Parts: sequence; structure tokens; C-alpha cells
Amino acid sequence: MTQAQIGVTGLAVMGANLARNLARHGHTVAVHNRSQYRTKALIEEHGHEGAFVACDTPEELVAALERPRRVLIMVQAGAPTDAVIEEFAPLLEPGDMIVDGGNAHFLDTRRREAALRERDIHFVGAGVSGGEEGALLGPSIMPGGSKESYQALGPMLEDIAAKVDGVPCCTHIGPDGAGHFVKMVHNGIEYADMQLIAEAYDLLRQGLGLTPAELADVFEQWNESELSSYLIEITAEVLRQVDAATGKPLVDVISDQAEQKGTGRWTVQIALDLGVPVSGIAEAVFARSLSGHAELREVSRALPGPSGATAGSAGEGFAEDVRQALYASKIVAYAQGFDQIRAGSTEYGWDINPGSLATIWRGGCIIRADFLDRIREAYEAETKPVTLLAAPYFTDALILAQESWRRVVVKAAELGIPAPGFSTALAYYDALRAERLPAALIQGQRDFFGAHTYRRVDREGSFHTLWSGDRSEVEA
Ligand code: NAP
Repeated sequence: MTQAQIGVTGLAVMGANLARNLARHGHTVAVHNRSQYRTKALIEEHGHEGAFVACDTPEELVAALERPRRVLIMVQAGAPTDAVIEEFAPLLEPGDMIVDGGNAHFLDTRRREAALRERDIHFVGAGVSGGEEGALLGPSIMPGGSKESYQALGPMLEDIAAKVDGVPCCTHIGPDGAGHFVKMVHNGIEYADMQLIAEAYDLLRQGLGLTPAELADVFEQWNESELSSYLIEITAEVLRQVDAATGKPLVDVISDQAEQKGTGRWTVQIALDLGVPVSGIAEAVFARSLSGHAELREVSRALPGPSGATAGSAGEGFAEDVRQALYASKIVAYAQGFDQIRAGSTEYGWDINPGSLATIWRGGCIIRADFLDRIREAYEAETKPVTLLAAPYFTDALILAQESWRRVVVKAAELGIPAPGFSTALAYYDALRAERLPAALIQGQRDFFGAHTYRRVDREGSFHTLWSGDRSEVEA
């Protein structure tokens, strides 16, 4: 009987394309899906692309695999993933591997990894980015799990991952849920990046009165600058698209209510738990959420905007200002995302190498960008930056951008154009560089109403002022 190197169960778009990618790289792939029509369709349409073993049942799939067995699950995240694990785990033997390439919550991955470890089965939560095209042609892959499992699995995953300068966009991220955690934050950064680009579009459209086709040209030019990235590239394509039915720019006939599915929201929820200020990602999630509140927006349309503001009046130099503001805000969003990864790594003892992440995000994934090379360099430098903003390359970029950035935030407020991503990024930058923050006053207020105590700048210890007494200070 043919011995397949890997089995893939779940043959919707992602699973089918990963199976094809594996087969095209010379691996024999056993394939299975709950509904058999998907397995049949894959073999009929793409069977000629490589060596597939079609399996009707989990038992057949397991029997077709060489040892240690590698079973890649590509089904819906949540309960379906648990159900499929429970179907396969009893069929496996110690040392075998289950890989979950879906968008699982990293806490689920930690739970599953611990449970399967008890049964001597390796569980690898692998973040996969790049959508359906990436899955077929080369995704960015972020596998967690044990080092031992990576030894058996890594070469195969590196084979099918995207390559940049010959380097595969796949590396072992760290134990248990590290891979899915990093994929989650990757998606959070993607939310922030997309929001910032959308704000730049809105500012240029309203501020300069440019048409979508003209804006497509602007984004195309920007793609030649340090902003060069997949998201900027596809922005130009979307803006250039004309709706066949109406002849209007497609962007004008698409409903302006964005969806926010699991991972962006999770990133912010977890950031709150970890106490990491990812304000750029949070604003991006909230902006999508606001866009979806149709009723709230309907009744609010009558609210007055700034008087005397003229659309299209932003003037010369505004486009370059917006480009600089976009770049600076993007640096902040990525810095915040990397801070969250460091905090998660510390909290869960993952020992994640941020430089290697920047390396594997350079290709295959949605946030791929030239800029990630600069992040990699920053983290590979002898002195590791506490924040990316303090890495010399990024500090210089912020210095160069900052006047433009401030002008854009002011202009957005003057014209009444919402730019929450740009504004929050600038506020973060200013808060980080502030000599003193008003948090001192907040501590005073907290001590006043709740005797929460405060620390002093000139002495060790905690203190409380007797606010309802003689207002003298006591050591707490
Ligand atoms: P999907 O729509 O998320 O899931 C459909 C697949 O799950 C089908 O094969 C379906 O089998 C199977 N399934 C659902 N419930 C099941 C159950 N209880 N038992 C067995 N099989 C079950 O597929 P997808 O879009 O290809 O995504 C797969 C995974 O990759 C998801 O976790 C997704 O979040 C993640 N992901 C997706 C993308 C993307 O761009 N789409 C990118 C990265 C990661 P049937 O055919 O029998 O219904």
C-alpha cells in the first residue's frame, strides 16, 4: 500500500490548496474530507498535479500514512476542530502528530496540546497566512508545538512555504500555542494596517477630491516607496476596479460596513489581559465595528460637522503628508504588535524570536512588505530595541515623518474626516516620549476616592493622603 508522508483532512479551499501545494512539492499526500464529494473533486480536478491517496474514512487516512504519522487538520476552528481531533487521536500511536492549520484560538491550542501530550501525541498549532492563493503557492507558516515535532514536520512545511531571498517563510515559533498566538497578532496587525490605508484613502479622497482611479495611481506610486507591500498593491487594484453593472468605481458600490471576525478581536482581548497598549489594532477593530452600526450611523448623519471646512481644500503637499503619516502610523502599529508578542512570550514562556517572525512575514502572508526587512534588522542588531520606535532606522523615519503626521491629524480634525488610526498612533508616540504623563493625577484621584495609594517620585514605598482628615500623608 502507498505510504503517504502526510495526510490532510478538511478539503475546503485552504485544505485542498495546501494538499495540492504539498503534492506539487513531491510529497505523497493522503486526503480526506467528512463529505466525500470534496475528496472526489480534488482528485478529479487536480489529481494530476502530484501523488494523492484518496481516503473515505479517518481510518483509511491513518492507514495510508508512514510513521510517525502527520495529520494536518484544515477544518473550521472551534468545536469542529475538537470533533476532528477526537476522531483521529484514538487511531494514532505515540510519536504521531496532529497539526491544526486552522485559525484556532491559542488558548484552545494550549488545551489541545496538553491533552494530546498526555496521550504521547504531538499537537502542532500552526498559523497559516496568505489566504487560498498563499496556501497553494506558498503561505507564511507559523508552527508551534514541540521542537521534536518540528524536526519531523518542519522540512515539509518549509518546502511548501513562500520563499524570500531563498529563505522559507516558516520557522518553529515556540511551544504549544505560540504559533497560533503569533498568527493572531499577525492578523491584528493586518487589521491596523488595513485601517490606516483606508484612512489614507479617505483623507486623500475627501481632502483633495481625488477620484478612485486617481487614487489608484497614488497608491501605485506609494508601492514604489518604503510603503511597498502587498496591502498597498491590492489597494491600488481595488481602487482601479470599475463595477460592470453600474460603470461606477467598485469601491463606491461596495457597502461601507466592514466585518470583524475572530482574530482581530482576540488580539485586542488578549492585549487587555496582558496589559499591552495595542491602540492601533484596537482602533482598527472598533472602526470596523462602528462601520457595522447602521442605525447609529443613520441617526447621526444629521450631526453638524466643522463649519467652513471645504472638501478638496487640503492643498499642495497633502498627499505626501498623508504618505508620511501612513508610514509613521504603520511603524507604531507594528511596534505595538511586536510588543504584544513579547508580552505573550514572557507570560507563557515561549521564548519567541521577534527577528525570525519578521523574516517569515516577508512573504506569503497578507502583511508581507519590504518594511519587514527593517524590522528583522532591528531585532537582529546587537542592542535589541525595547520598542521598535527606538530602533535607529525607525526613529529616523519617525523624525522625518512627524511634521507631516501632525499636519494630517490636524487637517483631519479640521475637515471632520475620521482618522482614528492616525490619531491614536500619534497619541501613542507622544505619550511614549512624554517626560511626565497625567497618570500622576489619576493616581491622586484613585487615592482620593478609593484609598488606592500612590508611589512617589522621590521615595520608595506606597503612600496615602488622608483626604477626609487633615490631608497629611501616611505611608501605606
Ligand atoms: P472552512 O469553511 O473554515 O471549513 C470547512 C471545512 O471544515 C470543510 O472541509 C468541512 O467539511 C469541515 N468541517 C466542518 N465541521 C466539521 C466537522 N464537525 N467534522 C469534520 N469536518 C468538518 O474552510 P477553509 O476556509 O478552507 O478554512 C479552513 C481553516 O483554515 C479554518 O480554520 C480557517 O479559519 C483557516 N484559515 C482560512 C483562511 C482563508 O483564507 N480561508 C486563511 C487562513 C486560515 P465538509 O465539507 O464535510 O462540510
